[in-house]
Formats: sequence, C-alpha cells, structure tokens
Amino acid sequence: MGLALVYTDEYRRLDFGPGHPMRGDRYERAMAVFREKGLLGEGKVTIESPRPASFEELTSFHTTEYVKRVQALSKIGSGSITPDTPIFPGIYEAGAISVGGSIKAMELVLDGAYPAAGNLCGGWHHAFAETGRGFCIFNDIAIIVTLMLQRGVGRVMVLDIDAHHGDGTQRAFYRRNDVLTVSFHQDPRTLYPFASGFVDEAGEGDGLGYNFNVPMPPDAKDADFIYAFDALVPALLESYRPDVLVLQMGVDGHCSGIVSHLSYSLKSYDHASRVLAELLRGTHTKLIFLGGGGFVHPTLGLGWGVQIANFAGIPSDIDVEADARNCGNRHEPLALVKRTVDALLPRVEGLQRK
Ligand SMILES: [Zn+2]
Repeated sequence: MGLALVYTDEYRRLDFGPGHPMRGDRYERAMAVFREKGLLGEGKVTIESPRPASFEELTSFHTTEYVKRVQALSKIGSGSITPDTPIFPGIYEAGAISVGGSIKAMELVLDGAYPAAGNLCGGWHHAFAETGRGFCIFNDIAIIVTLMLQRGVGRVMVLDIDAHHGDGTQRAFYRRNDVLTVSFHQDPRTLYPFASGFVDEAGEGDGLGYNFNVPMPPDAKDADFIYAFDALVPALLESYRPDVLVLQMGVDGHCSGIVSHLSYSLKSYDHASRVLAELLRGTHTKLIFLGGGGFVHPTLGLGWGVQIANFAGIPSDIDVEADARNCGNRHEPLALVKRTVDALLPRVEGLQRK
C-alpha cells in the first residue's frame, strides 16, 4: 500500500514574491531534502500528480463572491487580499492547483489506493469562507473536509501542529460535532492570529466540546510540546475514532523559525508522527497530511521529512538527536504548559463519555 505524496512542479507558482516568507521554491527544496535523506524511490513514498481544484470545489467552502474576486484579481496581478497576502499574476491558478493537491490526497485515501496521502502545498488554515488571509488564499483543509462530509464520511479529526492557531479551520466547523478540531500553537496573545486560539474556545451549539486549543508559551521546547501532545492527542483520537485524520504538519515552530518564537526541534515532529503512526496502525482511520508553515531551509524539508518517514514506516537519514541538541531542551515541561493540559483534560474525558 505505502504512502502517496501529491506533488507537481506547478506548486512553485504559489510565490508571494521577494521579501515574503512564502516563496515558490519551498516545495522543490523540500523534495531535494527527501531525495537526499532516502525517502523517495521504489517501495518508499510514491509521487502522485494533482489537477487544479474546480470552481465548484473551491465554492464548496468559499463564497462565490470571494472565489470570483480572486479570479478577477489574478488577471490584474497586483494589490492584496490582506496586507500579508499579496496578489500576484496567476494567484487563482496557483491557489487552485494547491487545493487540487489536497483533493487528490483525499481521493487517494477515500478510494482505498493508500492508507495515507499528503500534499506539501496545503494546510492553509487561516483562510475564511469569505476571504483569504495569513498567507492562505483558499482553505484547502475546510474544502476537503466539506467534500468528505458530502461524500458520506462520518467523522473527521483535524489536528494542527503549526506554530499558528488554525483559526480558519476552527471557524469553519465550530458548530459541528462531525469534525473535531484540535490545534497546538504559540499563545495567540504573542503571535498571529491574535484574536483566537485560546483554551476556552470549545465550540458552539452541536459543536460544543468538539474544538480544542492548546496554546503554548513563546519559549516552549520539545519537553513542553511532547508533554502536551501525549497527554491529549492519544485520548482524543481513541475517544473520537475519526474515519479520517487530517494533519496540518507545519514546522514553523522549529527553533530555527522566523515567524514564531517557539523552540521545538525535529524531535517534536518525529515524536508526534511516530505516536500518530502507532495509534493509526490497525485502525480504519485514514490519514491525510498537509504541509502548512515552515520557511527556513533545510529545516522545512527535514521537519516534513521526519513525519513522512514515520507515516511511511521507512527509515530516514535525518539526525533528530543532533537537531534536538542544537535547539536546546529542558527536562521538565513548564508549569504553564501543565496548567493548560490540566484545564483541557476534563473536556477530553467529557468527549470520551459522549
Ligand atoms: Zn504557521
């Protein structure tokens, strides 16, 4: 069966220009790291090609007005959706092929071709239905979850380990109990998106109890992330038993990062993916993984690479321990992190009883 990675050279079209962290070469550079570290090739990770998402697929989640606006701005080629998300010529096509990659990954797992599939040029968790924002043109996570529910998938869990709160995804499914949204991120009092991502955002209406935020202090290290992840994620996965787990695997919380103050090493990403791979083995739950943030090379390829290697069950030549020493760690998680977990645990137990 193995694992599929959806990729095309066309991803390089998604480029916000010089001076912007989100550049078009990040996918090919990550692929070069995968090649160097022995992840690609026969019997390992299989590469599959995407097609662009259609207008109908984009509007399954986004408003028609917004998608038409991006089409029009794409031809003009200048201006911005929000100040951090500038328009460039062909932005519609770049956004559509990126979302198409996530749709392809979804089709590959739903059709039974692979138990796990992913798209590096995906995980655009900040986009709202009516506007792109935070480097995100279209919210591919919300789109594929919507399409999966339309196709009859019963329960989806979205797990987001990017440095930033998955606010667009939270908002999309805040009133639903067939989508469990869980986000680990830097405390939004100290980082974009600032307005959301707090512990007390638990969902509303039918969705009450189906949204979990795990804000981490800005100086969080491996000990903090691993403590919180292990305390919450296995219990959430085992009690919710989703048909599909969508992972936003952003690595912008790495200590080399330029867009957050988190100080994780590759060990955090290695640990999380190992635990997930172990928990999913032998269950019916399919895995879709989406790239998310990460803007420093070669950390991006290494951070995505350790996770993909664990999902594929193949060894890689990535030296996690050396990276952990470089980033620094502490023996104990911070008291603040323990308090955050303690505040969330009763809600995890509540979900288990449902
Ligand atoms: Zn991010």
